[in-house]
Amino acid sequence: MEKPLKKILIANRGEIALRIMRCCRDLGIKTVAVYSTADRDLKHVRLADEAVCIGPPSSTQSYLNIPAIISAAEITQAEAIHPGYGFLAENADFAERVESSGFEFIGPKAETIRLMGDKVSAINEMRAAGVPCVPGSDGPLGDDDQQNFEIAKKIGYPIIIKASGGGGGRGMRVVHEQGELLQSIEMTRSEAQSTFGNPVIYMEKFLQTPRHVEFQVIADKHGNAVHLGERDCSMQRRHQKVVEEAPAPGVDEATRADMGKRCTDACKRIGYRGAGTFEFLYENGEFYFIEMNTRVQVEHPVTEMVTGVDIIKEQIFAAEGRVLRHKQSDISITGHAFECRINAEDPQTFMPSPGVINQYHAPGGLGVRVDTHIYNGYRVPPHYDSMIGKLIVTANFRETAIARMRGALSEVFIDGIKTNIPLHMDIFSDENFQAGGTDIHYLERKLEDE
Ligand code: ADP
Repeated sequence: MEKPLKKILIANRGEIALRIMRCCRDLGIKTVAVYSTADRDLKHVRLADEAVCIGPPSSTQSYLNIPAIISAAEITQAEAIHPGYGFLAENADFAERVESSGFEFIGPKAETIRLMGDKVSAINEMRAAGVPCVPGSDGPLGDDDQQNFEIAKKIGYPIIIKASGGGGGRGMRVVHEQGELLQSIEMTRSEAQSTFGNPVIYMEKFLQTPRHVEFQVIADKHGNAVHLGERDCSMQRRHQKVVEEAPAPGVDEATRADMGKRCTDACKRIGYRGAGTFEFLYENGEFYFIEMNTRVQVEHPVTEMVTGVDIIKEQIFAAEGRVLRHKQSDISITGHAFECRINAEDPQTFMPSPGVINQYHAPGGLGVRVDTHIYNGYRVPPHYDSMIGKLIVTANFRETAIARMRGALSEVFIDGIKTNIPLHMDIFSDENFQAGGTDIHYLERKLEDE
C-alpha cells in the first residue's frame, strides 16, 4: 500500500536537517523543523514550513527528548518523522514510539534497529546470512577468566574488546598480550554499562592494517533491495571518519557485485527497509563485517555523486511504501567522489572551536557540492558535534577528483572560528593517500610523525 507523505518532521539539526528539507522540497512535501533554543538561527529552521522549539540547548532536553518531538509532530500534524543521523536515528524505542503514536518512522522497523544495533546479534545474523565476519568470540564474553584467556589465545593477539551496544567509535579497547586481558575486559565492561547502559562485550581479532570499506543499500517494504556500491572511509582519527570516497580504490567490479549481493541478501533475510550501510574491515583482499548502520550516514553524498541516486529520496519513498524503482542492473558507478568533513576545531589540537563565523565564502564550480548550514554571521554553538559542513567533489577519475578537492579546499574562506581545512589540505597533498588504499591507522601515524 502506497501512502504519499504530505508533511515530514525533521528530528535533527545542522547540515543533515537542511539536506532532508531540500529533498522534501524537491518532492513537494511540507517540512516541520524542531530546534533547541541554541539553534533558533539554523538555516533550515528559517526555511522550513513550520518550526517548533523543543527545549534548551542540552541535547538530552531537546534533540533526544522523545516526548517533546512526538508532541511537535502532533501539534503540526506531521505524518512522518525523519531522524537524520546521530541523536535518535538508531534508537529503537524512539522508532517504536513514533509508530505507536501514529506516525511513519523514516527508517527500518524498530525490531530491525534493535537487532542490528546490538553488535553481537548483528554479527550472528550476518554469519547466518553468509556475510564474512571478523574472527571473534562468537557471542558475549562471560565471567570465566580462564575461558576468556582461551578465547583470546585461540583468536590470537592483538585482540579488540568491544561493547555490543557501542557506537561512535567508543567502547573499544585493544589488548596486545595476555597480561592486559582481564583488566581490559573489566574496564570495557564497566564503560559499556555507564556509556551505553548495556554491559555486554565481545572479542574480535584486532586487524593491524585494514581499510574501512562499507556498502550502501536501499530497500523497500516489499522485500526488494539493491546496493549502491561501496565507500572507503579509512581516513580516520580516533575511530571517527575524516575523509570518505567512492568507489573504494582497488575494489573491482566482480568483488563489488559479490559483496553487494551478500548485503542485499542479508537485507532480505532481516526484512530491511530504507537506507542502510554494511561496514567492513578490508584486509589482504578479504572483507570482515563489523557492524550495520540502520540510517543515512554522514558520507552518503559520495555514493549519490557516483550513482546518481538520491538516498534521502529513497528513504522517503520506502517509508511511503513505494516499490523500489531501481533494479541492480540499473545501478552503475561513474567517476570518483570525495567528501571532507569540515569541523569547527583546531587543526593541530583538535579542540572544538565554536563561535561566530564573521565571513564565509563557499567554493564552487563543476563537480563541487557543499552540504552545510553555515552562513555569514552564523554562531557555531558549543553544545553539539563540531561538524559544520561537508565538501564533496566529483570528477571522472580519482586523480582529477583529488586535484579538484585541493582547489575547492583552497577556495573555502571561513573567518572567526578555526576549522580542520588545513588538515584536509595535508591529507589531499599526501603521496600515499594520493596513491590510494591507505589503512585506518594511517592518519594517526601521520599525525604522530608530524
Ligand atoms: P562504532 O559503532 O563505534 O563506529 P565499529 O565497530 O564500526 O564501531 O568500529 C569503528 C572503528 O574501529 C572501525 O572503523 C575501525 O577503525 C576500528 N575497529 C573496529 N573493529 C576493529 C577490529 N576488529 N580490528 C581493527 N580495528 C577495528
